[in-house]
Amino acid sequence: MIALASFETAAKWGLEFPSGTNYNTAAWQEAKAAKEECPECGKKVAVEELLKEGCPWCGWISARAKSAQNQEDELVTE
Ligand SMILES: [Zn+2]
Repeated sequence: MIALASFETAAKWGLEFPSGTNYNTAAWQEAKAAKEECPECGKKVAVEELLKEGCPWCGWISARAKSAQNQEDELVTE
């Protein structure tokens, strides 16, 4: 479900992903490496990590991360 979460991350950051998108584009790599301040403690955390897993510093978890985890639980069929 990493792909799904990545699409959600991309959507949040306004990136467009037409069909056949090359994930190795500089823009995509840059987006993955981008950092955002944790709304709780203000430390810089990788956007992808912050959105998908939450803040490693203070334990803050985004609603998006929670919903993504729920979706993973529901969508895992293997
Ligand atoms: Zn934090």
